[in-house]
Amino acid sequence: MPKPEDIQKIVREVAALVKQEAKATRGAVTLSPEVAEWLQSVHESPVVYESPAPESGAHAPHQELADELAAIDAEVRQCTQCGLNAGRRNTVFGAGNSRADLVFVGEAPGAEEDRQGAPFVGRAGMLLTDIIVKGMKMRREDVYICNVLKCRPPENRDPSPEEVYYCEPYLLRQLEVIQPKVICALGRIAAQTLLKTTESTGKLRGRWHSYHGIPFRVTYHPAYLLRNPADKKKCWEDIQEIMKVLNGESTPDMGGGLIAQRLI
Ligand code: SF4
Repeated sequence: MPKPEDIQKIVREVAALVKQEAKATRGAVTLSPEVAEWLQSVHESPVVYESPAPESGAHAPHQELADELAAIDAEVRQCTQCGLNAGRRNTVFGAGNSRADLVFVGEAPGAEEDRQGAPFVGRAGMLLTDIIVKGMKMRREDVYICNVLKCRPPENRDPSPEEVYYCEPYLLRQLEVIQPKVICALGRIAAQTLLKTTESTGKLRGRWHSYHGIPFRVTYHPAYLLRNPADKKKCWEDIQEIMKVLNGESTPDMGGGLIAQRLI
């Protein structure tokens, strides 16, 4: 027969594992009444077999990430580094899930985004929502959407290298917090800017690239698709490849793509 103190040691270890499991998964572990009663009877202190309401929150990590993003957003609102602050109504930091597996990145806010302070609103934004909701069967809140530049360039001109130089670190910090499984660049400018290339969208799509180690896919900008609906099929092919990776059905092979790593 094992000694009582040995039984208590085993029970303590089991109880610790149960508590750990409860925190790691769904916040509650159900035990049969017999096991719960047994654990209760042999342990000198009450065994928690139904985990309590989240302490400083089982959701604390999510909240912490949201807070980290909010802190970067606050910096962006004060930013004057590249001069685009002069013409902005609002900064457009990004929106969505701070733990998203997928981050969509466009080039810069347009007029409506500048007005609302939110990314991808307006007609192009509605098409992006359709791609996410109807195509991917996800909610817009499940992904994260942002741009390379956080302020609108005048007349929606392409971002200058200097503007990208100053603003890209904010994107990198966003990605560092979110740690997505996949980045999807929307349109030529976002793709070329982030991958530091002049290759066309046609050449960049259809293969995996690496952006700071994160699998990176290129597809068409929703605004382009509104003007060229025939290319929606190609966009859907890109999205399907992304979904396979998100669902764990395939592993991105970044060997045939470009590798972007900012050195300074
Ligand atoms: S575009 Fe970026 S770097 Fe330029 S002012 Fe806005 S936040 Fe700052």
